[in-house]
Amino acid sequence: MSAPDLAALNHDNIVAYIGDIFERRGNEEYLGEPVTIAAHMLQGATFAEHRGQSEAIIVAALLHDIGHFTSEFGSFTMDDTEDRFHEEAGARILGAFFPEAIVDCVKYHVAAKRYLCASRPAYFDQLSAASVHSLKLQGGPMSADEVAEFEANPNHSLIVEVRLLDDEGKLPDMETPDFWHFAPMVQAQVDATRV
Ligand code: FE
Repeated sequence: MSAPDLAALNHDNIVAYIGDIFERRGNEEYLGEPVTIAAHMLQGATFAEHRGQSEAIIVAALLHDIGHFTSEFGSFTMDDTEDRFHEEAGARILGAFFPEAIVDCVKYHVAAKRYLCASRPAYFDQLSAASVHSLKLQGGPMSADEVAEFEANPNHSLIVEVRLLDDEGKLPDMETPDFWHFAPMVQAQVDATRV
């Protein structure tokens, strides 16, 4: 499939389309980490599934970095293909098809890192070198006002759970199922938003 306009995607083809992106583009490097982007997202989803976390969490972990592939979604500019604001690009794509809780987990996964750095002193110490580097570009730890605003989001604990899975999914050699293992639960989340 070549890049369609976002308008060509619907509740019946979005899961296959995302799966195709995983297959064609998933082997790309996850900047500065010893994993590919697909392995990174699959690891987070696999940890969540093994721990019995909710399907919303599993799916959010699986898709949280989909914004790195915005060139696959026709209505974006070249600037969007850069890492910058990949979380907002990802949320825009998923917003048309997924429940708000999942979209928020994607949209705020970078904010959650800034939140955790401000609210949990031990959190910063376990970040990867690449993640510490990007933290600076992302604005550093949140201020007290930003922390209060973040905690006012009704989905904030889900967002934090997905962020912790994001941080964990950076192992150089972890066996995971492929995207299609998770596809039925991704579809179930999409189906939940059908009107
Ligand atoms: Fe990530």
